[in-house]
Amino acid sequence: MLEPALSPTPLIDCTDEALARTGVELRLKRDDLLHPSVPGNKWRKLGPNLSAAVEQGHTRLLTFGGAYSTHLRAVAVAARALGLESVGLVRGEELAGAPRNWSLRAAEAAGMELAFLPRSAYREATGRGASGASGGTAEAELQRRWGPCLVLPEGGSNALAAVGAAQIPAELPDLGERDVVCCPVGTGGTLAGIAAGLPPGARALGVAVLRGGQGYLEDEVTRLHRAAYGREFDNWRIDHDHHGGGYGRVPAALAAFAEDFERRHGVALERRYVAKLLAAVHGLAAAGAFPPGTRLTAVVTGLPDPSDEGSAP
Ligand SMILES: *Cc1c(COP(=O)(O)O)cnc(C)c1O
Repeated sequence: MLEPALSPTPLIDCTDEALARTGVELRLKRDDLLHPSVPGNKWRKLGPNLSAAVEQGHTRLLTFGGAYSTHLRAVAVAARALGLESVGLVRGEELAGAPRNWSLRAAEAAGMELAFLPRSAYREATGRGASGASGGTAEAELQRRWGPCLVLPEGGSNALAAVGAAQIPAELPDLGERDVVCCPVGTGGTLAGIAAGLPPGARALGVAVLRGGQGYLEDEVTRLHRAAYGREFDNWRIDHDHHGGGYGRVPAALAAFAEDFERRHGVALERRYVAKLLAAVHGLAAAGAFPPGTRLTAVVTGLPDPSDEGSAP
């Protein structure tokens, strides 16, 4: 299979004075070190899906993503490592004729065949279209166009992905009542897995990195729990107050926080998810959201990309 560079990933203490004053401990679970090109939660979520693809005899993976999708790059690299073909449907037909950005170039370099779709067709293909066609109908359509393939959802979050992410808390020793395991939330697959993998008493906190996800993201996590485990869990919640203005937005205060954190702790921070998560955790702690004695474990779900101005080693 796709071997991890490091397993289990390191757990490092990151409690600074401000946190210590509130009686809160912070650790980082360095999942960014899992794999250099299938990093963090992408590796966790793809693992069981890749095993299923191979078991079911698939020779081709198909998935979706935006112009800078980490998920697309990860699928491209993982597919190649397993000798599978991959197809990436990219949101935005205008990108077809434009010079490839670094992210799409990396996906293509790993052997992924890209096709560019207008936004409405993209939504239909992902099963979220205005026609109301279900995911199943959309998938049948894709199989007709692209031949037999394993279709992975946008962002890679399905039931198997949640099962993969449940390995994260399984690598954390001695979790109990005082523990809160924190992660960023894009589609919710990582949070769903973490919550499902926690022992009784411990809780999960997700920080939404996009704006206006209230209700929708909670429903997604619940849907994944039902699909993967046939039940719901009540040990998690999503914070919707630290999205920094929306997906991909990095306000000046967040950038400054990230640079300061990198300088103090020597860990380079991916900005759109990881820096937002850590800023949120610090903000919540300062506001007294966690009782003294709480031990927070923030999952570093990915690596900085070339647009992140990290200066840490
Ligand atoms: C893709 C990604 C996420 C989003 O995870 P979900 O499971 O979709 O919620 C979080 N962090 C990083 C670094 C990512 O690349």
